[in-house]
Amino acid sequence: MKYVKNLKCTNCGQTYEAVPERYLCDTCGEKGILDVQYKYEKIKEDWNKEKLSQNNESSIWRYMPLLPVIETTQKPDLRIGHTPFYNSKKMAKKLGLNNLVIKDDGLNPTGSLKDRASAIAAVKAKESGAKTVSCSSTGNAASSLAGNVAAMESEMKAIIFVPKRAPAGKVAQLLVYGAEVVSVQDSYEETYYLSDRAIKKWGWYNRNAAINPYLVEGKKTAVLELAEQLNWNMPDWVVFSVGDGCTIAGAYKGLYDLKQIGFIESIPKLLGVQAEGCAPITKAFKTGKELEVTEENTIADSIAVGSPSNYKKALTAVKKSRGDMINVSDQDILKMIKTLGSTTGIFGEPAGVAGLAGIKKAVSLEIITADDNVAAVITGNGLKDIDNGRKATGDLIKIESDINKLEEIFYKKGVIDV
Ligand SMILES: *Cc1c(COP(=O)(O)O)cnc(C)c1O
Ligand SMILES: [Zn+2]
Repeated sequence: MKYVKNLKCTNCGQTYEAVPERYLCDTCGEKGILDVQYKYEKIKEDWNKEKLSQNNESSIWRYMPLLPVIETTQKPDLRIGHTPFYNSKKMAKKLGLNNLVIKDDGLNPTGSLKDRASAIAAVKAKESGAKTVSCSSTGNAASSLAGNVAAMESEMKAIIFVPKRAPAGKVAQLLVYGAEVVSVQDSYEETYYLSDRAIKKWGWYNRNAAINPYLVEGKKTAVLELAEQLNWNMPDWVVFSVGDGCTIAGAYKGLYDLKQIGFIESIPKLLGVQAEGCAPITKAFKTGKELEVTEENTIADSIAVGSPSNYKKALTAVKKSRGDMINVSDQDILKMIKTLGSTTGIFGEPAGVAGLAGIKKAVSLEIITADDNVAAVITGNGLKDIDNGRKATGDLIKIESDINKLEEIFYKKGVIDV
């Protein structure tokens, strides 16, 4: 924590000491989302690219000077981050691009980018002395919190609230990781409110990303890593799918940090992608009006947030980067699951590939041009949601054990030539 200055209210500018239990601004309440401020000058004195390259920690903790945790606090014993990236030529071509980088964050320990935030939550909970951590989630924040809490050395418990539509794979993860699971038979919004009331009533540590200012700092490690992997040569665009907005806000924060300490020269444009059936942030971005709560009508459960609590941070991020917001249909998303899988060997969940579907659309609308360098992060693993994986794909060959029949079918399908 020696590089953390304080927490600053994004609404009124008031500052607070960065203690683990500080979530919101006292004056502004729910509107007073706080932002962690760093002592950039001091970081610049003590840290540089060379020192970083000599650090053999291969996880998010290699970026310690830019993280709001005490160095010596025990960390979850999991490899968080350090996910691979690929220059996929075949995929680039499908999107109409010459240069594309894909970072596969579905390879985090519990299968999504959320591990980056949940690891921080587990550490902050430990620092606050809390024995119980809780959140509400569309699925991934929950499963990652459960996994990270399970990987803490000290006794700690996760109590998780999920909406009834959470995919079975994610609920199974929660139970396997030993969490207490509350399935709220209602929308995500109602799920969130129940968790909020329970957290206040019983005084648990709060991992709700929109409220807890430390979690965005974990999410930002996705771009810290990406920048290092690209040898600090940033692309023109960095693309994320958007639900609550914390991920894209975190991406901006990470890029801003890197610019402040002189690791990168300029901040790339951010493209935020929402699902057509649930796109309140895109709407607010396009109209410039206050956010209107919407239905949560999409297969991409991880970005189905009709009442996003962190939308202002997200809007600011996209605007300050001179980026854009776009929507894609569920059909576009399903198609992209198959396209990505069959051109790269990566299986993404619907929200995990929505960013790529957004790139395709942005290219067709000439928001992104073929020569732009583009990086996209696959935010979640497709094995979490095999139902949509199957929906995205065609039928398979069903047959009894008969080589002649097989030959006939193969011939018809063009699998073999005769
Ligand atoms: C949470 C999540 C997102 C979006 O992050 P927000 O902070 O809610 O905008 C995107 N993809 C996946 C797989 C997620 O789990
Ligand atoms: Zn305030």
